[in-house]
Amino acid sequence: MKLLLFATASAFALPLVKITDRALGSRGCLFTFHRAAPTDLWKRLPNRNFHVDVDFLDRFLAHLVANGWDVVTMSEAVRRSASADRTGRYVNFSIDDCYRDTFEVLAPLFRRHKVPLTLFVTTGIPDGTLSLWPAGLEDALMNRDRVVVGDTTIELGDAQSRRDAYHRIATSWDGPDAEAHYAAFCAANGIDGGAMHWNHAISWDMLEELAKDPLFEIGAHTVTHARISTLEPEAALAELEQSRRRLNERLGIGVEHFAFPYGRAGDCGPRDFALARHAGFRSAATTRKGLVGRGRDAFSLPRNTINGGHRSVAAMEMHLTGLTGTVARVIGRD
Ligand SMILES: [Zn+2]
Repeated sequence: MKLLLFATASAFALPLVKITDRALGSRGCLFTFHRAAPTDLWKRLPNRNFHVDVDFLDRFLAHLVANGWDVVTMSEAVRRSASADRTGRYVNFSIDDCYRDTFEVLAPLFRRHKVPLTLFVTTGIPDGTLSLWPAGLEDALMNRDRVVVGDTTIELGDAQSRRDAYHRIATSWDGPDAEAHYAAFCAANGIDGGAMHWNHAISWDMLEELAKDPLFEIGAHTVTHARISTLEPEAALAELEQSRRRLNERLGIGVEHFAFPYGRAGDCGPRDFALARHAGFRSAATTRKGLVGRGRDAFSLPRNTINGGHRSVAAMEMHLTGLTGTVARVIGRD
């Protein structure tokens, strides 16, 4: 099904955009992703689905601008969605969590294209209180010849074997004991977990520099990357309010926008949208696919996730036409 739809998107992308334009009038498409890497590095990454190939992003940004899409901040997207005027086609890009490559790879790219980028920061990352075990595991699997996991030594060979190892180990660790598994892994392999954190985390110094540049808009993405729907109301509200306060106090900026961790239908619902409003945000974003039409509720905004498997600009037209959102709803994967 996926292949067929992608083929359809490549062949008919432009007519579809025109038809959707006539049918919907003004509309916005919000994109989100996590990390980015240059092509040479991307090919070797054991968890490359989590990283966007920056060369692809470069081509995609050029394509959007050439085809009449305005790349805007989340503030502007929210303003346009609430406006009765015809506001044209617009796109927003947001980064969730925020890693070091946001500063080193993405900020220069977006500056070069002179288009804005929204950063949804999980404050436990620059505060050093949130374990980045997936990044540490990936780093070790990419850069070492062998690793010790439990009582097994795994010899690492080509990129595919490293991807297989990542998938196997991460799947077995995922859950409440992930941090303990990672601590044991660091000890067994002589890895300094603290130093490894800063190899991948964004720092407050980096965020301070980005916050001074009007191209970069900073929003909140909780303190601990909690799945908000699973928390009691007080704890859920604390995640929203404390991340906002911490960003405000550390960067001296107003923080108006929020993005729900994970963001799918089971991860955040109507109670949580109301909490985001109560916490004083002006908008909250999910990762449910679709477009932002006029009058859209600002506290359950759809965003389309770009992952490492996306490397074709033509396939992105699926999101820009709203087709992926329609398909996700039809097959019950929103
Ligand atoms: Zn996240």
